[in-house]
Amino acid sequence: MTDAPIDLRSDTVTRPTPAMRRAMADAEVGDDVFGEDPETNALEREVADLLGHEAGLFTPTGSMANQLGLRLHVAPGEELLADVRAHVVRAELGAAAVFSGITTRTWPSERGRLVAAAVAEVAEPNAGAYSVSTTAIAIENTHNFGGGTVQPVDEVHAVQAFAREHGIAVHLDGARLWNAHVASGIALRDLAAGFDTVSVCLSKGLGAPVGSVLVGSREHVAAARTWRKRYGGGMRQTGFLAAAGRYALRHHVDRLAEDHTNARVLASALDLDPATVDTNIVFAEVTDPAAFVAAAAERDVRVMQLGPRHVRLVTHLDVSAEQAARAAEVLAALPR
Ligand SMILES: *Cc1c(COP(=O)(O)O)cnc(C)c1O
Repeated sequence: MTDAPIDLRSDTVTRPTPAMRRAMADAEVGDDVFGEDPETNALEREVADLLGHEAGLFTPTGSMANQLGLRLHVAPGEELLADVRAHVVRAELGAAAVFSGITTRTWPSERGRLVAAAVAEVAEPNAGAYSVSTTAIAIENTHNFGGGTVQPVDEVHAVQAFAREHGIAVHLDGARLWNAHVASGIALRDLAAGFDTVSVCLSKGLGAPVGSVLVGSREHVAAARTWRKRYGGGMRQTGFLAAAGRYALRHHVDRLAEDHTNARVLASALDLDPATVDTNIVFAEVTDPAAFVAAAAERDVRVMQLGPRHVRLVTHLDVSAEQAARAAEVLAALPR
């Protein structure tokens, strides 16, 4: 293992640990479309409880969880607002438009950091018969393309209050809500409060091979369950996957603090302000990202180019403190 490349491209590259594999192999399973898979039912219950919502729905991907949530809130031709670099806007390939007829506008941000006034500035609820009305707002916590940014609680609350006042739904893309929880010390249920729907990923820093969960009210989750089947996402013996997620919830949440420490080690090696690294994602500006990626790969460190000027480094379960230190040494020596 010591000679394997250190893979910092994404926290999705993790492989199930031996103990997680045992939990998967031992899972009691049934047909989940019939509602008879015990592990999946337990996972949906546990995540809903953790996040303080009524019900949960297991989905194959975070994109599907987000898209199921959004379509519950926005009718065809109505408008979703999101950050200019939001995953739902940039990385889900137009799914909201393709599947749900949703139009989207964005608000600008620094590092994806939420500023309620910027959202209120672009929102247009009840726009009348000849303009598009805003009916949902999506917030991302932590913010991926913003660099793992943890959203300020006061700004989240201000957006929620604004939305409530105007009858606008609010969806939380919480793919990495676990990281926000560990970095801030704020309880998961507090981070998930005040949202109509919340999606969380099990296959990022938590290290499960597959899966996300959408939570919300019983009614919303029942409707999402129907749409999941319509999208072809009704799966059968999902307990093997749910067992990995349940194992991850018990064993891989608190350890995210190690990923955050490792990310700061990488950041300081690249002369970045560690204060700009909230969690497990580091964005570094370099003059030639493709050359940087290639030079790092030659030295067995894999990083990802994002955009014309940046590379992204992500720490995760399969990067130890020793490997992070070694990667930091390699990357510090490369021309930037
Ligand atoms: C990874 C991610 C998702 C979901 O991605 P899938 O690859 O579809 O599971 C959603 N939102 C954010 C912010 C993400 O980083």
